[in-house]
Amino acid sequence: MSQQFIDLRSDTVTKPSKAMREAMANAEVGDDVFGEDPTVNMLQETVASLLGKEKALFVPSGCMSNQLALKAHTEMGDEVIMEQDAHMFNYETAAPAVMSAVQVKTVPGIRGVFRADDLPPHIRPAIYYMPRTRVICVENTHNRAGGAVFPLEEIKKLSAFCKEREILFHLDGARLWNASVATEIPMKEWAQHFDSVSVCFSKGLGAPVGSAICGTKEFVTKAHKWRKVFGGGMRQSGILAAGALYAVQHNIARMKEDHEKAKFFAKELSSIKEFDIDLESVQTNIVLVDVLKTGKTPQEVIALLNKQNVLISVGTFTKFRALMHLDVSMDQVKYAVDKFKQIFQ
Ligand SMILES: *Cc1c(COP(=O)(O)O)cnc(C)c1O
Repeated sequence: MSQQFIDLRSDTVTKPSKAMREAMANAEVGDDVFGEDPTVNMLQETVASLLGKEKALFVPSGCMSNQLALKAHTEMGDEVIMEQDAHMFNYETAAPAVMSAVQVKTVPGIRGVFRADDLPPHIRPAIYYMPRTRVICVENTHNRAGGAVFPLEEIKKLSAFCKEREILFHLDGARLWNASVATEIPMKEWAQHFDSVSVCFSKGLGAPVGSAICGTKEFVTKAHKWRKVFGGGMRQSGILAAGALYAVQHNIARMKEDHEKAKFFAKELSSIKEFDIDLESVQTNIVLVDVLKTGKTPQEVIALLNKQNVLISVGTFTKFRALMHLDVSMDQVKYAVDKFKQIFQ
């Protein structure tokens, strides 16, 4: 095992399993730009039904799926509200400005969570020289908040807040599967409160490529058109959809193991005096560790662990991040913990 890297940099590093590859190799395909790929169609129907939405659209990435939602929901010059640590604000290369010509207004959150009661001062009055508040976005689970779950009660309040004001409500649910497994609240019960929901197959679900954007028939019809404009019209994409479909059918419930590995890892590392971990935020598969007190930068800590064949990545300024996924076993996590203890205890 010591020759092999234990890759905790992200849950996107997983490789398709033999069974998943077989499903992909055997997939029935057609030209999806003509709507004729049966595997893509089956994936879209499966995901729409799982989320309780009228339609789902298979797209190449989570970025595209979030950005298609903004494109379909907004007009040039609108304003979109999201939490300041949101993936859509930090890691999508200013796409709201580039693709939709909208302005993002960020609000502060605690572990990624902001509340309806805090929003009124952020909503624009209908005055011609102000932008129109058009969409509010939530991220669940929240990536930069260490995989914390956005509580359903707060989502319900935000949804009611949006409805009252005719603001659209979007969910970046790249890891909604994790939220659903951790809380045992079905995907549908989360999704019903939103006008659009994005989910990723390429994170903890272990598929090589793809996301879906879901919502009403009317919304998905718009997103479908824009997908073509964005360069996301694909042909025999059933090969990819088969991997995603396999993941949805086989890899959701097992995420529980990833959450257990994360809790174990976080608890063990919290015994290292110079590490700070917000154990309450470790609710799913992500662990953020603040290394400020070690006097080392996250990059230096990463380099030390790399020498021991343990790969981790930079979280935020003073933090490194470790993600649990289906290509890392509990034994490997234990091995990684031992290496951390050897170096820092
Ligand atoms: C990974 C991720 C996405 C999608 O990013 P891609 O790079 O397109 O895969 C969107 N939102 C969140 C919260 C994510 O973690």
